[in-house]
This record gives sequence, structure tokens and C-alpha cells, in this order.
Amino acid sequence: MNIGGFQKNSLIDFPQTLACVVFTSGCNFNCPYCHNPDLAAGPVKGTGSNSGGEPGVPGPGQIDPEEIFSFLKKRKAFLEGVVITGGEPTLQPGLPAFLERVRELGYRVKLDTNGTRPAILARLFENRLVDYTAMDIKTGPDSYPRIAKGKSEKDNVLDRIEKSIRLIMEKSPGYEFRTTCVRPFVTEKIMEKIAGMIRGAEKYVLQNCSRDVHVLTPEFLKDDRHFFSPEEIRALGDLVSGAVTSLEIR
Ligand code: SF4
Repeated sequence: MNIGGFQKNSLIDFPQTLACVVFTSGCNFNCPYCHNPDLAAGPVKGTGSNSGGEPGVPGPGQIDPEEIFSFLKKRKAFLEGVVITGGEPTLQPGLPAFLERVRELGYRVKLDTNGTRPAILARLFENRLVDYTAMDIKTGPDSYPRIAKGKSEKDNVLDRIEKSIRLIMEKSPGYEFRTTCVRPFVTEKIMEKIAGMIRGAEKYVLQNCSRDVHVLTPEFLKDDRHFFSPEEIRALGDLVSGAVTSLEIR
């Protein structure tokens, strides 16, 4: 696992669960508003890092997974869960082995994902390694290739996203889909298409994009036209609320 960050406590990342947060390095998307640009740009396979779930030597700037396991062993009385976020965690070959060890220690697991690796999700659900999945729906069906990095990630990206949506709805014990509202990735027309993609889902979250942070493409934040007002986000919510059981605006 290439782990680029670790937060010891969080009350807001895992519903009803006091959790720590593990940040993996590397992402196959290029969202200009990404709030974790260093993690997104980080290595998927770092030289000398532990990519197979076995003890290894972390690469520069990486956290040794053994440090996290040692923390988890000590905090069992206080913490209930572990959130795995990124970057994109499902790019890590060591993810299933890492989660097996987290499970052996008795923790609940929440996984954040962009949904580009349905085969990994299927394996994690099959082995009951995830309790709650939060998948970002970045945009509508036609626009996904715009944010995928490189040709191999652009190919069939929509198929993979749709497969992940179905898998999560069928197999994840708890889940939410969520969208960060920024133009041109989200518009009224796109929101109607997203409603079709996630129709029947239990929970959908719309969130505004914070402007006071370091992002992958800083120029992107300088253009007011990319942002929605709270009223406009509520209007986007009206377009999708009939398709899902519960809609939340954060
Ligand atoms: S998918 Fe997430 S981590 Fe990757 S670039 Fe987009 S916002 Fe950043």
C-alpha cells in the first residue's frame, strides 16, 4: 500500500462511527477541483514501497502500514472504524490484504472510491471487507472521459462506473453516492442524467466545492462561473430527489 497520509481521529468521515482515516497515494482521475492534489499526483506504485500488503519499506513521504497497524492495536478501545480514502484506494494492489488485517483487529471499514475498479470492489464485497462505500459520481455519462487520466483510463470508463454503481447498490452493506457541484462537470442537464445513473439508490449527497483550499488546478478556482450558489444546489437537488430514497445537501 502506498499510504500518503493518516488522520488519527475523525467524527465526520464515517457515518455514526468514530474512525481514523488512511489516505492512499495516486489517482487515475484529474479533477481540477481535487482537494488532495498531492495525494492525487502521488505514486500508484512507489519504488521500494509496500505494494503487496506485506511488510516493506515505504517510499519517500510514505507512511509504513505497520505504523498504522500498531496504532490500531493500541486504540481498539476508543476507535470503531477505519476510513480508506485517497487518491483512489482501489488502485492499490495491497488493498484487500490491508483490509483483511484491519478486519482481524475488529474494525469497521468505510471505503471512498471514484468507482473505476469494479472488479476490486466485487472482491472486497465478496470477502466482506467493507461496511460502507462512498462513491463519487463526478459527472454525467458523456463527460467521464474528460477527467480520466490517459487513454487506458478513458477507455470503457463509463462501463466501469456503471458496473460499480450497480455493485455498490447490490452488495455494499451501507453506501452513499455523492457529487461535488462544479461546472462544467455538473449542469442541470447533467444532473438529470446522473439521476438516471443512480435511480433507486438509498442515499445521494450533493456538496458544494470549497474555494479556500489548495487544489489540483488552482486557476480553476479563479473562475466564478464554475461555482453554484446554495440556492442553485438546492435546485439541482430537486432534479434528482425523485430518483433516490434520501437526498442530502452538505
Ligand atoms: S478522483 Fe478524487 S482524488 Fe482523484 S483527482 Fe478526483 S477528487 Fe482528486
